[in-house]
Amino acid sequence: RDSVTFDSLSGLPNEALLQRKLIRIFRFQSPHTLIFLDIENFEYFSSLHGAPTAEQVLVGIGTFLKTMAASNEAFRLEGSRFCLCLPSKDGRLAHSVVQAVRQRMTQGWQVEGELLFVQVNFGVLHIPSHASTLAEYNQARKRVLSEITSVRKQPVFIFTKQDAFDQQRRMNVLSALRSSIRNPEQVMVHYQPIYDVATGRMVSAEALMRIKDEHLGFLPPSQFISLAEQSGLIVHLTKILLSKVCTLVRKNLGECALEYISVNLSGEDFNSSHIAGSLISIIEQEQIAPKKIGFEITESVALRSYEKVSQVMLELSLRDIKFALDDFGTGYSNLKALMDLPYAYVKFDKSVIHAAMADPAMLALLVDMLHTLGKVLIAEGVETEQQLEMVKSVGIERVQGFYYAKPMEEQAFLEMVG
Ligand code: C2E
Ligand code: MG
Ligand code: MG
Repeated sequence: RDSVTFDSLSGLPNEALLQRKLIRIFRFQSPHTLIFLDIENFEYFSSLHGAPTAEQVLVGIGTFLKTMAASNEAFRLEGSRFCLCLPSKDGRLAHSVVQAVRQRMTQGWQVEGELLFVQVNFGVLHIPSHASTLAEYNQARKRVLSEITSVRKQPVFIFTKQDAFDQQRRMNVLSALRSSIRNPEQVMVHYQPIYDVATGRMVSAEALMRIKDEHLGFLPPSQFISLAEQSGLIVHLTKILLSKVCTLVRKNLGECALEYISVNLSGEDFNSSHIAGSLISIIEQEQIAPKKIGFEITESVALRSYEKVSQVMLELSLRDIKFALDDFGTGYSNLKALMDLPYAYVKFDKSVIHAAMADPAMLALLVDMLHTLGKVLIAEGVETEQQLEMVKSVGIERVQGFYYAKPMEEQAFLEMVG
């Protein structure tokens, strides 16, 4: 009987038992949350490491999922898919489960002396709000599984050499990121000064992350930030970077005239539940004045996670920490919503500055409006004297750009600060 309803590899109940459970759930209309998990590129992983090794990873994941749920709540579906079917007490349940699984995934799986990593995609389905009958459920399930299965949505997918190469590169970069989290000395911080255009003095600086990997060499943000965000690893990297910046402030910048050093936050940072608390505790550990740190949040992140962002901003503002709205002018902004957030600074994206060279009238209007709202303005990407003149003429008070200085290593930055 067991072999019909239990998966022999993981020992978890299988799809047939899940179906039985669902029949009961729908009969009593009892609220449940289903969390589907699928391992990204599992077939590729399996071809790379061999089927027995890949199966051991599945066993590991199955064993871990058992610890997350009661015995009749974790299921192995076909292939690399699993499902948790949990009675939902509140809406936050799925979020915390996803966080916990992701956290476990970052530790990897030990198989015969080798530490292996896989990426998991999640799909969430609430009963009864997303499906109130078994038929509705089966429809919804199909959709969810197709969304989380990492097969491109084309009728015929032809695998090319380039795909294999991209795939391999992606795995290598992910492994470089994991290795940097274990060895924070591989996370490099470059600093780019921000100047007051009236006085020509450096007033603050932005901290920008780079990764130095023993196999891949030096990685600029364009090669790893989005992967770090997709994988959730950015949360760890942000903390490492912030703590390095705080150390520099404590050791070398405590007495200097710089107002603050700014650190970029990603949307993914706002998904971790205690972001405000953990940022504050890093700053407090170094015993520096919190106002010496600033945070940059892009307009797209601010609009996407509006509630969370505004809550975190309020909490950190109480400590006198200031925020900059980054990459302003790149999205189709909901200006009203953005301006309701307590930003002290607005940074015009370099594309806005470059576009305004032909006709600065629109930029001048925006500048006046933002000044009326009490914002301090920063122009990014100023590369030429003409651009600097234009920026001055519309009344932007601060500048960050190659015209003054490129991002530089800590030592060079300290020499410039003097
Ligand atoms: P960003 O936050 O808008 O940072 C400004 C970017 O513009 C930097 O690129 C900087 O080197 C570049 N830049 C500055 N002045 C000029 C200029 O005059 N001309 C041109 N063409 N570019 C200029 P970088 O360091 O490559 O970073 C790119 C993006 O990666 C950043 O854009 C930010 O979104 C992201 N990033 C960098 N470090 C971090 C980090 O620690 N955490 C997070 N979440 N994102 C980061
Ligand atoms: Mg920035
Ligand atoms: Mg920017």
